[in-house]
Amino acid sequence: MTGRLVSVQRLCVHDGPGIRTTLFLKGCSLACRWCHNPETLSPKPEIGFHARKCVGCGKCAEVCPQGAHSFVEGSHHFDRGSCTACGKCVAACLPGALEYYGREVSVEEAVAAVLEDRTFYATSGGGCTVSGGEPLLQAQFCAELFRALHAAGVHCAVDTSGAVSWQSFETVLPYTDLFLYDVKHIDEQIHREHTGSGNGMILENLTRLAESGVPIEVRIPLIPGFNANQESLSALGKWLSRMPNIARVRLLPYHLARSKYETVGRRDTMPQAPIPTPEQVREAAAVLEGWGLEVGR
Ligand code: SF4
Ligand code: SF4
Repeated sequence: MTGRLVSVQRLCVHDGPGIRTTLFLKGCSLACRWCHNPETLSPKPEIGFHARKCVGCGKCAEVCPQGAHSFVEGSHHFDRGSCTACGKCVAACLPGALEYYGREVSVEEAVAAVLEDRTFYATSGGGCTVSGGEPLLQAQFCAELFRALHAAGVHCAVDTSGAVSWQSFETVLPYTDLFLYDVKHIDEQIHREHTGSGNGMILENLTRLAESGVPIEVRIPLIPGFNANQESLSALGKWLSRMPNIARVRLLPYHLARSKYETVGRRDTMPQAPIPTPEQVREAAAVLEGWGLEVGR
């Protein structure tokens, strides 16, 4: 059994309790405009090109069987359409201007990578989190990974958008200690406009998950021009207040990170909106607390 992996991040402190190792898996079922990880969107392997690291040595063009790299008047051109993601150019690029997203890893390899950090889990109450993209698009891989990690006594969490079939949840449920579950907007049409998909399946899965009794932390990305307003938050708070078993709600305020869209040849969709001020985050939390929810920030 293998999974398609974008990266492993160590010493993470925002992906569940304690110090965690987070595995970012390839492929997502949504396309949120504010996505900070566009390299995880496509389920297929792809090559990231970091133009600022390229020294123009031409090694990539020498090894590429598809002729996907070329140089026009000293400027590097990468034709993604003809790339088959064989990875030869990545191996040849010594300055690290090319990066492979979507490496196939076995469950055993992934388990070994996670267990390298087990001392941190023991001292901090941490563990492993699978994220993405949408990790549950690779539910069988996650389940086998978690089964092995559970046998080694490691706490396991899933960071999900909820936009997958209920069967995917059932596959990982026996081995999952915590779900970090994104809920973005209660209005179907607004949700569709900003994420590319409706919210029906997401809300239905959360209802079923809450009934299962597994601990859930709901995460709300606080996005200006989308849900960072009293009306949207109040509707969300009202809906969530009826759910059993929500341990807490966490607000994830929008922030401007360096855009990675160009690296994977995508149009940058991140909103050019001001980031929420601490006062606005406090006000948003107060709206949710008004519905009896415990809000972490
Ligand atoms: S091998 Fe790397 S550094 Fe050299 S031209 Fe290609 S992308 Fe640039
Ligand atoms: S991954 Fe393979 S096909 Fe794609 S650009 Fe690099 S060498 Fe060419």
